[in-house]
Amino acid sequence: KKVADRYLKREVLGEGTYGVVYKAIDTKTNQTVAIKKIRLGKQKEGVNFTALREIKLLKELTDPNIIALIDAFPHKGNLHLVFEFMESDLEAVIRDRNIVLSPADTKSYLQMTLKALAFCHKKWVLHRDMKPNNLLLAADGQLKLGDFGLARIFGSPDRRFTHQVFARWYRAPELLFGTKQYGPAVDIWGAACVFAELLLRRPFLQGSSDIDQLGKIFAAFGTPKPAQWPDMIYLPDYVEYQYVPAPPLRTLFPMASDDALDLLSKMFAYDPKARISAQQALEHRYFTSHPTATNPASLPRPP
Ligand code: ADP
Repeated sequence: KKVADRYLKREVLGEGTYGVVYKAIDTKTNQTVAIKKIRLGKQKEGVNFTALREIKLLKELTDPNIIALIDAFPHKGNLHLVFEFMESDLEAVIRDRNIVLSPADTKSYLQMTLKALAFCHKKWVLHRDMKPNNLLLAADGQLKLGDFGLARIFGSPDRRFTHQVFARWYRAPELLFGTKQYGPAVDIWGAACVFAELLLRRPFLQGSSDIDQLGKIFAAFGTPKPAQWPDMIYLPDYVEYQYVPAPPLRTLFPMASDDALDLLSKMFAYDPKARISAQQALEHRYFTSHPTATNPASLPRPP
C-alpha cells in the first residue's frame, strides 16, 4: 500500500525513540528509504505545525556526513519522516568481534563524525543525542549522522521514553548538572564518548543512573575543580562531591597514540566553554599525523 501516493512500505526496521521505522521504496526515485513514523501524541495542534516548520529547516541541512531528510509529511495523525536508507551503524561495527578496527579506521570514523558536527554547529543546529547507533553507515562506507535536530524539536528522548537508557552514557556533565543553557559542546562530549568507545570497543562511561553517570565521569577524569570549571557551582543540580583524583588518561587507554589521547582529553574538557569545538578538533594534529585516516570505501563493515 502506498503512503502519500509515493512510498511503498516494506518491513519494519525497528522501534526507535519516537516511533516505528519502516523500510520503503520511493516510487518517484526507485530509491530504498527509511520512514520514521513519529507519534505526535496528545500535543496541541499548534505543536504539529511548529514541528513541521522546523523539519522543513532540517531538509535544508545537506552534507555528505548527515543523513538526508528526503521528505516529511503528516499521515493519519502521525508525522512521517523519510530518510535515505542506511546499511548499518557504528554500534554494529564496534560490537562485531570479527571486525578489527585499526587506528586509521578509528581516525576515519571520528573525522566523519566531527565533519557532520562542524557543519551543523556552523548552522547553529545541535544534535543532542550522540551515540554510536545514531552514526549510520552508508553502502559506500560514508558515516552519516542521523536524527539531527529531532531531540530539540520533539524533546529530549530519554525523558519521554524510558527504554532509552543508553543515551545517558554520552551525556555531558553540564547536562547532568541540569544546565538549561547548553550549546554545541554537548555534542562534542558525546562524540568524545564515541571516540573512547572506538578505542576500547565497549562503552566508556556506563552509568546506571544520572548520579552514577557523574560518578563514572569523576572516576575517569577526577572531580572537577572550580578553577577548571568556574560556572559549575551555579548549575541547578550542582552538589559538592567528595574529592576523587584523576588517574592518568593513559592508564584508561593503553593502546591509544599520544595524539589521540591529546585530542580525546580536549574533547572531554569539563568546562563546556573550554571544550574543543568540532572545527578545532578537525584541525588537531591527530588528523595529520601518521597513520592517515582510512578511505571510507575501505572501512571494515559488518556482513
Ligand atoms: P533510536 O531512536 O533508538 O536511535 P531510530 O529511531 O533511529 O532508533 O531507529 C530505529 C531502528 O530503525 C534502528 O534499528 C535503526 O537501525 C533503524 N533505522 C533508523 N534510521 C535508519 C535509516 N536511515 N536507514 C536504515 N535503518 C534505519
